[in-house]
Amino acid sequence: MEDYPRNVKEFDVRFRSEVGCREYLLQLRWPDGFRCPRCGCPESTLVRTTLLRCGACRHQASVTAGTIFQDTRTPLRVWFQAMWWVTTQKNGASALGLQRVLGLPRYDTAWTMMHKLRRAMVRPGRDLLTGRVEVDECYVGGLEEDLPGRLNLEKALVVVAAQEDGPGIGRIRMRQIVDASAESLMPFIQESVAPGSVIHTNGWLGYSPLVRNGYEHEITFLKRKKKTPSELMPRVHRVISLLKRWLMGTHRGAVSHKHLDYYLDEFTFRFNRRRSKSRGKLFFRLVQQAVTVDAFTRYQIVHPKPARTMGKPQSVGGW
Ligand SMILES: [Zn+2]
Repeated sequence: MEDYPRNVKEFDVRFRSEVGCREYLLQLRWPDGFRCPRCGCPESTLVRTTLLRCGACRHQASVTAGTIFQDTRTPLRVWFQAMWWVTTQKNGASALGLQRVLGLPRYDTAWTMMHKLRRAMVRPGRDLLTGRVEVDECYVGGLEEDLPGRLNLEKALVVVAAQEDGPGIGRIRMRQIVDASAESLMPFIQESVAPGSVIHTNGWLGYSPLVRNGYEHEITFLKRKKKTPSELMPRVHRVISLLKRWLMGTHRGAVSHKHLDYYLDEFTFRFNRRRSKSRGKLFFRLVQQAVTVDAFTRYQIVHPKPARTMGKPQSVGGW
């Protein structure tokens, strides 16, 4: 059952107190009702706003442990306002914008919240792309030929997969990679696209193990064609162009290298839900993913890079 506020008025009524926010987190985290993680007992009493005590073994369980809200000093109400705002901004949200809207005294607080929320935008165990999928790499950063200004970012290599949906684009996936070798490209494809799908690429050698890995491979050799790459693989190049514009626009090019992955996740989250008419549903998805306990363990498996730690030492126990 997808239960979410339909508009800002419903949001305000429901989440104006810590209690309302906690109830919602409880509901999303334990859809069949809370059960003690130690003994499985369904009886519990409330100790503090986010702390429950098991009626049988007296084990104390936090509603926020293992979620992006773990150990936060920011009230849940403020987190909820942030999530509502982030999901209702059509073109994405910057830390500065969040700080202004919530009236936060410190930019750092807004920045940390934004980065934690971006982590929740990667859905654990999400479905793989299927059918026909265009894959290509691109450089992001440095001087962009077709855009005004420049990204305050050294050039970074990004690989993008765009599912075909008739003449349009279905869902997408993207990731920063160290180089365009098969060792970098294949893990991305295997974690993003279901085996048996048709993968459409250019003639680059890095894609040659695709067939061996259970995919159908359609190759377009650019050299023999008069058309440009964006005409031959229009979907993936459309996505790349939108990504660059978004980084330049919403974030004014101020994206640092080590955080680029988070921005790619946010862009993907928004893009894959761009046709969703209900912003409330987007909010629901974000909260749901924010309380998914395994979100970060999976995240760290998929992207095992030290750059993924957020710059500052912090409690990593539940992550
Ligand atoms: Zn118990």
